[in-house]
Amino acid sequence: MVPPELTGGIRSRRGIRLLRVHAIGIDIGGTKVAGALVTEAGGILRLERRPTPAGDPDAIVDVVVRLVQELSAGQEIVAAGVAAAGFIDATQSIVYYAPNINWRSEPFRDRLSARLPGLDITIDNDANAAGWAEYRFGAGRGTTDMTMLTIGTGVGGAIVTDGRLLRGGFGAAGEIGHLRVVPGGHPCGCGQKGCIEQYGSGRALLRFSNEIADAGGIGQALAQAREANGGTLDGAIIAGLIQDGDVGALAALRELGDWLGQACASIGAVLDPQVFVFGGGVAIAGDLLLDPIRESFLAHLPARGFHPEPLFTVAELVNDAGVVGAADLARIHAARRGLPE
Ligand SMILES: [Zn+2]
Repeated sequence: MVPPELTGGIRSRRGIRLLRVHAIGIDIGGTKVAGALVTEAGGILRLERRPTPAGDPDAIVDVVVRLVQELSAGQEIVAAGVAAAGFIDATQSIVYYAPNINWRSEPFRDRLSARLPGLDITIDNDANAAGWAEYRFGAGRGTTDMTMLTIGTGVGGAIVTDGRLLRGGFGAAGEIGHLRVVPGGHPCGCGQKGCIEQYGSGRALLRFSNEIADAGGIGQALAQAREANGGTLDGAIIAGLIQDGDVGALAALRELGDWLGQACASIGAVLDPQVFVFGGGVAIAGDLLLDPIRESFLAHLPARGFHPEPLFTVAELVNDAGVVGAADLARIHAARRGLPE
């Protein structure tokens, strides 16, 4: 669904159709800062990358300011969105906590605005920005309610409800990885126990694979591969065995899908999305992952049999979703504010 702000013809005092111009998206990762000039249709016109000066907020501000200046040269830009891992406050201006870049309560928007006058600047969580891009231009387009789970080392999340990105009252909504599925279960990096991140992530897939290898039987090929690799399994080995149709590796993937399906049933009971989108490295398994998720979802959904079945699909925008989403969110923010000249 196209947000209502983007269908109108909001114009600046100079008569420019503000929402038909490009915006800039910046994605601050742990090792690279990516910046892009993005069209209103989500197309990337220009993409630049710089190393992240991690741990030095002043240097990061410098890198972002320079990227925005380079990308906006000669363009009619009204908005720039910045995405970063961590907790961003509900007003999209303060980075409360960013683990990768060692920030605590950094008034990032004000620092950028002071050096980039005339631009409407917003800050978003990186998973939210990537999820928004998927909603607007990828697997979630055409719906109003989408939940995205990114299955990497951990489990990331983004929620769009009624056509809006769900940020929550304090800005920290959408942390699906920390939905508890097992009371008193596996310890999680967040300090709690039993979060879905411990049962539905790439790391969990490794644990299940090791357990199956230890048990013998269908785990023979996993055990042999582990021995040949110096006693440890890794994602590439498991992906290879899955591709070869090995029963042990497929059983590990099914276990992962079963847990994710249970989490989706709980999410479905609360948010009722039309589509669940799965991104991240493990989602490359496609239907081999989606089928067990769907089966488990249907088995665990409250009042099952009486609920239309949502779509389960994989993400379409694999690379650069963060910059595209950050730019689009910034454009929408500028439109809601009625926009500076
Ligand atoms: Zn957790």
